Amino acid sequence: MNPWIAKALVVAATLVMVAIRAPHGRRSRTVKVAASHKTRLETGLLVLAWVGFIVPLIWVVSPAFSFAEYVLRSGPLVGGVACLIIGLWLFYRSHADLGTNWSLSLEVREQHQLITQGVYRRIRHPMYTALLLYSIGQALVIPNWVAGPANLIAFTILLTLRLGAEERMMREGFGNEYAAYSARTKRLIPGVW
Ligand code: SAH
Repeated sequence: MNPWIAKALVVAATLVMVAIRAPHGRRSRTVKVAASHKTRLETGLLVLAWVGFIVPLIWVVSPAFSFAEYVLRSGPLVGGVACLIIGLWLFYRSHADLGTNWSLSLEVREQHQLITQGVYRRIRHPMYTALLLYSIGQALVIPNWVAGPANLIAFTILLTLRLGAEERMMREGFGNEYAAYSARTKRLIPGVW
């Protein structure tokens, strides 16, 4: 199959993702941060996430990773598109539910509210589930051994090193309310983990 199909999909999915995130990025700058837990590790993880985000786009516009190309097949393509669509839908819903409580990094904002409804009802990290689905989608759609899994590798590292710190921060900020919420929910996959 023509790799330009994959390139068009990657560009379209990236534009949708940026369009969902942009208004929240702008709005979050207007809400004061009450407590920042942005450590050096956190900054490093955000840089890593940027690299994972950019590498597929470099693949679209340049031959930099042509040595790692393979043939695009319809099975992974269809599976990948499904992951991208579900991932983007969940990304949209989790931003809508979090509202002004969203932060790019680990921060508790002034008048921060604990959200436990909508897509937060059964899992505590639907936005991370969304990004995981999105990066699995990219790994399946992009027929390249470097650009395909770049986002998935970067995001898996970020998730592994951030999830515990984020939950500690939320427990510090919300005490028993977060403990009760944790007791009745899973982290990333409803009913499983
Ligand atoms: N981990 C969540 C949120 C990612 S955005 C998810 O995957 O959906 C990261 C910020 O969201 C954190 O800095 C924290 O301030 C905030 N946050 C995380 N869970 C929250 C919740 N249940 N309610 C309100 N804010 C939350």
